[in-house]
This record gives sequence, C-alpha cells and structure tokens, in this order.
Amino acid sequence: MIDPTALRAAVAEGFGRQTEWLAKLASFDSTRGNEAPCQDWLAGEFAARGWAVDRYTIDEVEIAGLTGYSPVVDADYSKAVQVVATHQVEAPVGRSLILMGHIDVVPVGATELWSQDPFRPEVRDGWMHGRGTGDMKAGVSAMVFALDALRRLGYVPGSRVHIETVSEEECTGNGALSTLARGYRADAAFIPESMGHQIIRAELGSVWFRLRILGRPGHVYAGVSTGSHAILAAMAYIEALKGLTAEINAEAVTHPYFGAIADPVKFNPGKIRGGDWLGSIPSWCELECRLSVLPGHSLADVRERVSEAVRRCAAALEAEMPALSWIGFQADGHVFAPGTEAEALLAGIHAELLGRELEPLSMTATSDTRFYDLYYGIPALCYGGNARGMHAPSEAVELASLQTTTEVIARFVARWCGLKAA
Ligand code: ZN
Repeated sequence: MIDPTALRAAVAEGFGRQTEWLAKLASFDSTRGNEAPCQDWLAGEFAARGWAVDRYTIDEVEIAGLTGYSPVVDADYSKAVQVVATHQVEAPVGRSLILMGHIDVVPVGATELWSQDPFRPEVRDGWMHGRGTGDMKAGVSAMVFALDALRRLGYVPGSRVHIETVSEEECTGNGALSTLARGYRADAAFIPESMGHQIIRAELGSVWFRLRILGRPGHVYAGVSTGSHAILAAMAYIEALKGLTAEINAEAVTHPYFGAIADPVKFNPGKIRGGDWLGSIPSWCELECRLSVLPGHSLADVRERVSEAVRRCAAALEAEMPALSWIGFQADGHVFAPGTEAEALLAGIHAELLGRELEPLSMTATSDTRFYDLYYGIPALCYGGNARGMHAPSEAVELASLQTTTEVIARFVARWCGLKAA
C-alpha cells in the first residue's frame, strides 16, 4: 500500500514539469486534420517512458460497420493519427485499466475575440488559458503525470494499462471506436474530461446533419417567395427545427436524468454558406446543424423526426425537399449505471481528497464515454477537474484542480491496478 502523503508530495513535486508539459501539448493546433504533429510528440513522450507505442491512423482500422460508427465527410482518415501506449505486466496483481483522452480541439473561431494566441497558452491567476487546455489536454497530462508520480516513488502499475490519445471526439467519436476495434480492452476506463470533479452519470448524444437547399434562381427584379430563395428558405428550416427541439424538450421534462434541466436538448445551426451573386436570387444554401439526443431516444427516431420537420417545412414553402445528409456525430445518449466497483473506488478517493461526496452529472453534451460503457461493456469513469469557456475564446483550466485530478488518478491506478516495483 502506497503512502498517501508520499504520493501527494510526488504529484506536487512533478507539477511544475506537468504544467510546462501541458503548455507544450496545448501549443499544438490539433484541430481536425492537423492532429499528427501533436500525436507524434505524444508518441515520443510515451516511448520515452518505456511504454510500447501503437501509432496508427483510423484508415488502417475497419470501423465502418461497427455500432457507434459515425459517417464521415470532408475528412481524410489517412491523416487521423491515434496513439495507444501500453504498460504491459507479466504477472498482474490487480485489474487492467484504460486511461483515455482526446487531443482534437475545436476551431478557434473569430480570432479577434481572443485576448491571446489560442495556441500559446498563458497562465493567469492559477488558470491556464488557451484552446484545448480544458477540453481536454489537461486531462491527458493528468493521466501521464499520475503514472510519473508513481514511478518517482519507485512503482509502476501492477497490471496492464493502456494510455490512449485519440482524435475525432469533437465530431464523430471514431478515434475512440478505432481503439476498441483494434482490440484494446480493460476492466475499466478512466476519461479525465474537465467535469468539475463530478462523474458523468448521463450524457446526451447528438446528430450532425446537412441540408442542401435549392432555390428557384432568377434576377432579383422579379421578386421572390421564401421557398424560391435558398437563403431565406434556410431561415425557415432553422425555425422549423427550433420547433422540433422545443417539442423534444417538452418531452424531456419527465426524463429520469434530464427532467430537472431546463431545455437540455440543444439545436445548433452551426454552419451556413450559400449564394454566389448579389444580383441573383441565391440558387443554393447549405445549412449544417447539430441536435442533441436524449438517452432512451433512438437515433433512427430522431433522424426521422428531423426529416419530417424539414419535409413539412418544405411543403409549407412550396419548395423541393432539401437533400438531407448525416455528416458526423450519430451518437447515442447514454447513462452510466451506478453501482460499479470502479465508481465506488473513485468515489472513495474523491471523498478522501476533496472532503465531499462524488456528485453525478447529467451532461448536456457528448463525450467518448459511450464507446466503452455502452458498446463494449467496460465501466467508464468520466471525471476530471475544473475548466471554463470550453469551445469559447475564454477556454481555461484551473491548475490547482488539475493537480488534485492527477492525485486522484494516481491513487486510482495504485488501488485498481495494484503496484509493482519499477
Ligand atoms: Zn472533451
């Protein structure tokens, strides 16, 4: 049994180095399609720790037919590098574990809204600011430095640990799926997303879709109806989909995990482009949207409801039904059932270190957790420290809470996997 005081000191002693390491990790612009340099750096870090490194691209793995797969457009999977490092143990003394984090980050958006270079992290008032710091490169640093702290005390995990850094978490989840398709399994998974020291009990899924709306083009002098005007029609489809969202939110009030949250289901018309010429009625407009999916609602059902809302709107506009395609996330909502040994262990460690009970969180977003728990029966703990401004120019992670998370993971590894002399 490891001395908790010594472990705390070991995490604290490494924390300066961890903060620098996180700043380096967050300096990579690892937006979709650009993950390789970040992953290659990580692969080097992992190899330097003596772990066996499997660096591959999603292209190399057959995932298209698997449950949980999301269709992909506009992405080149021959560039989508994934990394799985493995600490292998001959005669295990405990249970195996997956430590998993995503390194893809969302685009920075309008750069003039940032008070800093998004990829040059800055520490101010105990928070590290920058794209990807909170979501979730801090968590990745916690996985790695928890193991480093154990090593500093002369220990390694007493059973197999996979340290996984994936991409695609922000758009499909296909990176996480690829690790499972490649055969990586364990008795539990730990995903240190910045969850404010809560554990994800339930999360929404989401669907991404695109409407390609065609108008009836002509000269602007002719005058035009909304249905003939691709951009004005897009506004009508947005209203129709807001109506569908309100309808689903009305049903959500009786949901066991989301009933207490006002309007948990979010509709985001996130991307739009269309038209070519200011003197012409726009002949086309492409509208891309995201809609949440409640646990218990089937994806097929949600897709049908989206189609039906669009169909009804098209009829009202006396327009052709737009081409509707599913272009990313087809993610189920998911409930992580209470009662696992892994959660009990985490809850105990959380209470010891934070002096309060572990609270469950119903999260109105989507994480990679579903792949492990829902599709592969691996209990998956999604738990980590405090962040703010995720997906915003104010993104930041609280360093003190990161240090605590690192200590939580180190203790979890020690007790779940057991320890051996390094
Ligand atoms: Zn995340």
